[in-house]
Amino acid sequence: MHKKHLGFSYKNQILHAESVAITDLMAVYGSPLYVYSRMDIENNWREFDQAFGDHPHLVCYAVKANSNLAVLNVLAKLGSGFDIVSIGELERVLVAGGKAGKCVFSGVAKTKIEIERALEVGVRCFNVESASELSRIESVARSVGKQAPISIRVNPNVDAKTHPYISTGLKENKFGVDMSNAIDLYQQAQDSKYLNVQGLDCHIGSQITEVSPFLDALDKVLVLLKQLKDKGIGITHLDLGGGIGIDYEGEQTIDIQNYIDVMISKVENIEIILEPGRAIVGNAGIFMTKVEFLKQNSEHSFAIVDGAMNDLLRPSFYNAYHQVLPINKNAKGIQAHWDLVGPICETGDFLAKNRALSLSEGDYLALMSAGAYGFTMSSNYNTRPRVAEVMVSGTNHQLVRQRESVQDLFAQERLYE
Ligand SMILES: *Cc1c(COP(=O)(O)O)cnc(C)c1O
Repeated sequence: MHKKHLGFSYKNQILHAESVAITDLMAVYGSPLYVYSRMDIENNWREFDQAFGDHPHLVCYAVKANSNLAVLNVLAKLGSGFDIVSIGELERVLVAGGKAGKCVFSGVAKTKIEIERALEVGVRCFNVESASELSRIESVARSVGKQAPISIRVNPNVDAKTHPYISTGLKENKFGVDMSNAIDLYQQAQDSKYLNVQGLDCHIGSQITEVSPFLDALDKVLVLLKQLKDKGIGITHLDLGGGIGIDYEGEQTIDIQNYIDVMISKVENIEIILEPGRAIVGNAGIFMTKVEFLKQNSEHSFAIVDGAMNDLLRPSFYNAYHQVLPINKNAKGIQAHWDLVGPICETGDFLAKNRALSLSEGDYLALMSAGAYGFTMSSNYNTRPRVAEVMVSGTNHQLVRQRESVQDLFAQERLYE
């Protein structure tokens, strides 16, 4: 069991979410199913928040990791800020009780409508990713007669040593502005009546398990901060993004207190914003699936499960690893090295490969650490309804997203007449 999987553990050989047996959840809600531990979400957020001590800070949970309203609401109640990347995420945060004034708006291509809405509700800051975007934000602000608070997202050109699909801080990535162009952009923003320079932003990637890339990025950002100061451009917050890696398969990852201590020691008198997503929800959720059929040939043992790549994309997309645990530790079935594959018509439709498990048809299996980029990346491919989501808190459990019906899936479609 992972260090951070405090919400998920075996009691009497049965896997539990907090104090609720997963067998009970499967009986009530059916399969496949996402299950979240409220306690884990809260503890993970507090770990970041408390590590800052008295240093001015705001922990802005990155909504794209898991945007369920119940998850956002739990965090809003703790006083969390939010990192959003679309108007859809903004509206979710507001409906869930989050404050616009604690939202930072990231993303490479904010539309006019998104900017207007963000100004209307009063977001904390726009993280600007290009010169064109800066002028779009300025022109929208001018048209509505408001000042837009901005940070420039710089690309510090550091190697986050993570999967290429989730590395964002290299020159070859589409994100942010080159450090060398940033000063001109800040000068431009400083000269505009409709822009209000507030912060300096960077985000170098995701699932980063060593602190050194973050510190390399921070050092580069601090050089720029000094240059801006010398030009009379004052920065009131540093946004150092998210990307803190979690333990998926027993790997050593970042000690959050240590990371934040080092950060604080280098940054005096400036508020620090962080945008962790995965580190808050990743280990706080699991994906449950049922073994439909077992199929063995001379080469391979396949467990065909009812969950698929449309429900949990990470294995197919990033070749990501999720630990697989039986719901009943004592289950006696066929011992083999199983590939867990879904019903979708793609060879890439797998959830796990080559796992030593003892399986029978009808067994339930947990894919651990599926709380981040799980449900939010799910789709309706193969006209499969998206699954239900459940939150557990102590001995209580509640449905926080109803399973879609087949009719839901084509309700927006029309025949051509
Ligand atoms: C995706 C993203 C995050 C969150 O990344 P995690 O790896 O989930 O912590 C934070 N900030 C920005 C700008 C992002 O794009």
